[in-house]
Amino acid sequence: MYPVMLNLTGRRCLVVGGGGVALRKTQGLVAEGARVTLVSPECVEAIEALAADGTITLERRCYREGEAADYALILAATNDRAVNRQVFEDGERVGKWVNVADDPELCAFHLSGRVRRGLLEMTIASGGEAPFVVRRLRQLLERRFGAEWGEWARAAARFRELVRQAELEPEQQEAAYDAFFAGSVDQNLLRARVPSDEELERWLGEEAPAAAQKPEVSPEPVDASLGLVSLVGAGPGHPGLLTVRARQRLLGADVVVYDRLAEAALPPDLPESVTLHTVGKTAGNHPVPQEEINAMLVRLGREGRRVVRLKGGDPYVFGRGGEEAEALCEAGVPFEVVPGITSGIAAPSFAGIPVTHRREAVRLTLVTAHETAKVDGPQVRWDLMAQDPHATIVGYMGVTALPRVVHLLLGGGMRPDMPAALVERGTTAGQRQVISTLENLVDDVRAAGLKPPALFVIGPTVAHAPHLDWLSMRPIAGQRLVVPASPAERVEALELAGAEVIAVPLPVTAAARVAIGACPLTGCVLRSATDVDAFEDERGVAGWDEDVVAWCLTHEAAARARECGWRHVEELSGEDTHADLVERIRQRWAREL
Ligand code: SAH
Repeated sequence: MYPVMLNLTGRRCLVVGGGGVALRKTQGLVAEGARVTLVSPECVEAIEALAADGTITLERRCYREGEAADYALILAATNDRAVNRQVFEDGERVGKWVNVADDPELCAFHLSGRVRRGLLEMTIASGGEAPFVVRRLRQLLERRFGAEWGEWARAAARFRELVRQAELEPEQQEAAYDAFFAGSVDQNLLRARVPSDEELERWLGEEAPAAAQKPEVSPEPVDASLGLVSLVGAGPGHPGLLTVRARQRLLGADVVVYDRLAEAALPPDLPESVTLHTVGKTAGNHPVPQEEINAMLVRLGREGRRVVRLKGGDPYVFGRGGEEAEALCEAGVPFEVVPGITSGIAAPSFAGIPVTHRREAVRLTLVTAHETAKVDGPQVRWDLMAQDPHATIVGYMGVTALPRVVHLLLGGGMRPDMPAALVERGTTAGQRQVISTLENLVDDVRAAGLKPPALFVIGPTVAHAPHLDWLSMRPIAGQRLVVPASPAERVEALELAGAEVIAVPLPVTAAARVAIGACPLTGCVLRSATDVDAFEDERGVAGWDEDVVAWCLTHEAAARARECGWRHVEELSGEDTHADLVERIRQRWAREL
């Protein structure tokens, strides 16, 4: 098979057949400027329409022997193999190109799948034997190659013209083309970027490498010229619910741009070389507007940096991650998405609520209540959801809108005793929840004083909460402890006992400081006087208050902690095990509750 692109502008083409396949082929030919005659005794409406407005010539009759000779290209797609065969044989006789749809034997040529990005055309073929893979591969390439490749190809054409005008030696030409390609294409991610005029100028002057030492790989590392922005989900707040890939990306980043909801998930062992940049609300400051965040990500990506955009939960679940992706895509900045565990699934789990359950809830709706809070905003169809008793509704941003949502669900016919819950700061040590019914939820939430961030869960499976509440069965659930990262066994023992543990390397890193400040602490484990000193500069800022308990593992640590003015000092002896520490914390915690 010899691959070609045919210029069909103004050429006469024949389509034999009047069904859906014939229609698609006709449209394809018309789109390329062919003059199409379609022959068929009957045809679908869309073909009639093409004939009615003069786009094609329609002849309502059977194919006539010998007719193929009058056309440059012939496509047959009738449901009668004998007719198809006749068309093919006619074509063969007079040397015309015939293709019969879905019948490789009766084809003088095959049609290929195509992905077009401006000047750039990629075609895919399977010898007519496996059209289904052609279709799927085409879809894959459609996704892989964004619109920026079209502009990139135009820039490439412009560059070729410049190279021509410069009348370079052949090796210099090659060097210039190599520089263009290496400088504008990320070959790992298959992303292209439109180069600036200065860059074209520079690449034009690229020296040809001496023949002997011509490098195998491009001299300019592509990653350095393009950067990568990772839109990363931080999970619902518990540091352990960050994914492995999210952690990898964070540790390898140049810059991390994070939201308020993502603070607690920042790994405390993040190297100090990683620049941290908050765009969430900080004391006295408004959050950075979305447009500015978009612009910042584009700028950092263009500077060739590895950027992590860390967002609470999953970036695409009510996180405006889509807008950031759009902005990056438009700007031609390579990006990827690292999905995160969304709070709508994790927070119910931590409150003992399975979001689906065999026979009880066969549907899960994740919905924002934000629109409903703005009375004249576009409305969610709560009335329809009210009609579905075997479903779970998880409402994000749901505290302010709760009374209105409940009103609309009751009005829509949902039963007043439908189990319903609100979970505040789910998965974190600060998690609080109210388990109630639809009609009582608003009052119960008010009485308990729950605040955002919180989500509501409405549906039959909420009734499981009391006995599936595995979290509060842990001995020290609700404790938020700062613990020296080593030994790891101690960290693990405290975590297994239900505490949220911030395992910090000493001296305290900037990332650890952010993570600690995300929520109030309950305690801090201190191994020695040196540990106490290491935390001296930390105390008194976000996360730390007077009530944080110093869990001192040695007498020396306890003595220093008292000297430094810690109000609550608990002293353990050198012999105490991790289990003893857990037990001591549990006893004190039980007294306080
Ligand atoms: N992208 C996030 C959601 C952002 S919208 C995600 O996938 O989780 C912010 C809303 O998420 C909050 O108003 C709250 O309704 C919910 N939310 C986020 N973290 C939460 C948590 N730990 N517990 C309960 N709700 C939470």
